[in-house]
Amino acid sequence: MNRVTALIIVLLLPLAANADWFDEIRDGDDKEALYRTLYYMPKGGDLHNHLSGAVFSEWWYELALAQRERGYEYYTKVRISNCRDFGGNAFTRAPYFLLFRNISALEYAQLDECEQGEYKRLADLDENEKAAWMNGIRLDKPWEGREEFFSTHWQRLNALTRNPWLQAETMVKNMQAYAAEGVAYVEYQMGASSYEGPNGETIDAPQAFDILREAMARKDVRDLGVTVRFQLAILRFLPNAEDQLRRVYKLVHENPDLLVGVNMVGREDNGKGHPAQFLPTLRELRQQYSGVRLSIHAGEVDEPNSHVRDTLLLGADRIGHGLNLISDDDTLLLMRDGPYLVEINLISNLLLEYVNDYSEHPFPEYLRTGIPVALSTDDRGMWESTMTDEFYVAATEFRLSWEEIKTLGRNSLEHAFISEENRERMLREYNERILRFERQMQRRGVAQLGPMPETRGFVCNRYGLCK
Ligand SMILES: [Zn+2]
Repeated sequence: MNRVTALIIVLLLPLAANADWFDEIRDGDDKEALYRTLYYMPKGGDLHNHLSGAVFSEWWYELALAQRERGYEYYTKVRISNCRDFGGNAFTRAPYFLLFRNISALEYAQLDECEQGEYKRLADLDENEKAAWMNGIRLDKPWEGREEFFSTHWQRLNALTRNPWLQAETMVKNMQAYAAEGVAYVEYQMGASSYEGPNGETIDAPQAFDILREAMARKDVRDLGVTVRFQLAILRFLPNAEDQLRRVYKLVHENPDLLVGVNMVGREDNGKGHPAQFLPTLRELRQQYSGVRLSIHAGEVDEPNSHVRDTLLLGADRIGHGLNLISDDDTLLLMRDGPYLVEINLISNLLLEYVNDYSEHPFPEYLRTGIPVALSTDDRGMWESTMTDEFYVAATEFRLSWEEIKTLGRNSLEHAFISEENRERMLREYNERILRFERQMQRRGVAQLGPMPETRGFVCNRYGLCK
């Protein structure tokens, strides 16, 4: 440390030590003041975010319709006329009894007349159907939870997730929202199976990556100042999961400008696709390929097991959720002050009923015993929530201090899978911005912040913050 740096630190110490301003806002009666503080506060990165789950229903609707310009026409199921005789087996990969499932023009053309009559063009939905379509891809009812999420949301999106241009537009819309709430970096998870053109023609994954690159290079997108990278995710429980892993691992290795890591997703509560199964494949891949980082969902279950430990053994540097790490003493000790980060998804965990109440959540225990953690949004489009909301939950439920908020921000950048050069730049910028914000808050308080932003369903329902 040189003398100038030391002098600056000494001069700033009294300011840094005085964080009472934040405690006052947090503990005061003005919920909007806290929300505005957290909204306008500079944030680090969102490290755990599934691109197709991050899209709010009205964005999906609007962006899917806009794809008609490229020749894509989508149909959605609005009634069931009992066109099929199943012999008792109605739950195939394409669930027949699922309303508001979206199909492509090609899928529509392959249906018989009876089934075609069950569908409407997305553009032709009436107001009620449109509202139901939107509610079909978000957890908006108190009785909806894990089952609804895992067995209907993704099945409904269906064809929408196979259009690479629509995927790029959902990314842009997301980046705009992130820029507005001060998020600097996002690591999106996406699948890498093949995509399709307007007439059902195959578009392979590398072509889809180019479409993302083009969107990211647009001036309006660059000007947002949000840095984006991707992880490729495999569905861990599929019978060909190992082959998928080989495929995505190689793709990440070959596209380091865009892709930084591999993830594994899917329900963890049935033992299929458990982490140890993938160890031989990863060891085989590491013989050949460099530069592929692993962030893997683990411990997103109700029961204790050794999955977080096994996932670290796979070579993961970050753990998605890590809820049941709390019941694995040895691994918990291993992770204190360690190099591995747990990506915390507070809203997701509550809505999918992995905790019944925030008093059951291990986040404060991890944070306050020195396990690196960062807040992230998981499938926020389906929860109707934002990055600000995650901080709001953490601040109110666990009485976060200002120092802890800054630790979370820094952790999210220190553990980003981006190149070291970019990581250092983002950290430097974050430190400068957050210090500036802190000084403004200390001098002029909440009055200098912008207006209360529009809020979404989650904080409206839970905290009465409705705007
Ligand atoms: Zn996730």
